[in-house]
Amino acid sequence: ANRKFHPDDSIIDCGHGVLLGGGFFQVIAGPCSVEGDNLIRIARRVKAAGATMLRGGAYKPRTSPYASQGMGEAGLDLLLEAGSELDMPVVTEVMDPRDVALFLDKGVDVMQIGARNAQNFPLLREVGKTSTPVLLKRGMAGTIDELLMAAEYIMSEGNPNVMVCERGIRTFETRTRNTFDLNAIPAIHHLSHLPIVADPSHATGHTRYVGPMARAAVAAGADGLEIEVHDDPAHAWSDGAQALTPDMFDQLMKDLLRIRSIV
Ligand code: PEP
Ligand code: MN
Repeated sequence: ANRKFHPDDSIIDCGHGVLLGGGFFQVIAGPCSVEGDNLIRIARRVKAAGATMLRGGAYKPRTSPYASQGMGEAGLDLLLEAGSELDMPVVTEVMDPRDVALFLDKGVDVMQIGARNAQNFPLLREVGKTSTPVLLKRGMAGTIDELLMAAEYIMSEGNPNVMVCERGIRTFETRTRNTFDLNAIPAIHHLSHLPIVADPSHATGHTRYVGPMARAAVAAGADGLEIEVHDDPAHAWSDGAQALTPDMFDQLMKDLLRIRSIV
């Protein structure tokens, strides 16, 4: 992952002709959880607004074991159907090394490693044995160096297709869900050739802060954004408090164009 060994920025081929990194900027959008029929409606809206990749969790890492754990395999199927209908690569979280083979079988385009698994070394090694792109999130209390070493676990198994993601870190501040470490964007670019995606949804935890932090991340040079969008946030299975509605997402995409052109 060290730029010393690879001076040029890595460009990751995410499938469906979508490249990320080295000047190729992409927006990943969709609901926190795949919930059912609303997925395709949300997906159509985010695509129309300019998102180029579709996200949605089928296996959810929830704090409480009694909270919805996601749709599982049926959720993967819905997500992949939407991705194929709209010709968009899909990004979805894998939590268990035993599920990696299923994700590959189904044709998941990008496997997300969530913040809670950022140092789950057996999981990192397992996705490292594939050639499928990985979106690796920063741990809840992970340093930038720990994030890059986690990327190294994946790459050392032979998979060079790693994108890292700044999604906020836990600090003493409680007003926001996490503290968005904008510094991570230039720091990762300095230290590593890997692309860095910013996730202002989890970084802030509040719908109203997502837009400003998305704009800040783009201004700071992020290679991509991951943003949660839901058409009925009040009834979302997870993370409704930080979801943008499709209309808000549309407006944000227009605002981003004032900062950079969207590939
Ligand atoms: C998510 O993307 O929905 C998610 C659980 O993110 P994180 O792992 O960053 O908390
Ligand atoms: Mn979420």
